[in-house]
Amino acid sequence: MFEILRFLHIFSDAAYRAHCARYTEPDDEKFQQLVSEWDAMLAGGLRCGLVRPAVCSASLYACTDFVGAASRLRPSSVLAIARYQPDRADVYRAWMGDTEPGPRGEAMRERLHVSREDGRFKVAARDEVCGDCFGAGGQRTGQRCSACDGAGWFSRGGRQWRQLGRMLELRKLGPPTDQRYRRAYDAIG
Ligand SMILES: [Zn+2]
Repeated sequence: MFEILRFLHIFSDAAYRAHCARYTEPDDEKFQQLVSEWDAMLAGGLRCGLVRPAVCSASLYACTDFVGAASRLRPSSVLAIARYQPDRADVYRAWMGDTEPGPRGEAMRERLHVSREDGRFKVAARDEVCGDCFGAGGQRTGQRCSACDGAGWFSRGGRQWRQLGRMLELRKLGPPTDQRYRRAYDAIG
């Protein structure tokens, strides 16, 4: 689990640097370089898809709005990691926080699926949390969430495993600080 945790921290850091540069790096080539470094950690056809805000002048990247936006960013936390073996090779599922903490704290924003490709870890699929049920798949009353049809997550591209199989290992590193996601976090396992 140590290796995968290390990879996720590097991934989260690359995402953070690219997000900051999106607002504050006037040199477009340097921004694209950071996007490429982040993309290199994604498998197959996955791309981070990060684009610049539409501005017409490089000086805008030093304006207070943009600098302020960048200063609110931080590397997203690794909240939990689980290991599976759907077809003999390890697949890890990682529950990640957010690059921009909201007024209620850090959300549980993304779920990554990581596998090895030519001996290196790559993010093979990404899911985004459902904003209606906060990843729980249903309401507190037990009613199924109609937005995500009970899944709690939406696929945002990448490989689809029909079944990940039994969870072989689980490490919970700490819940998201935004309590609305707590129910989904507590249900992991
Ligand atoms: Zn939902």
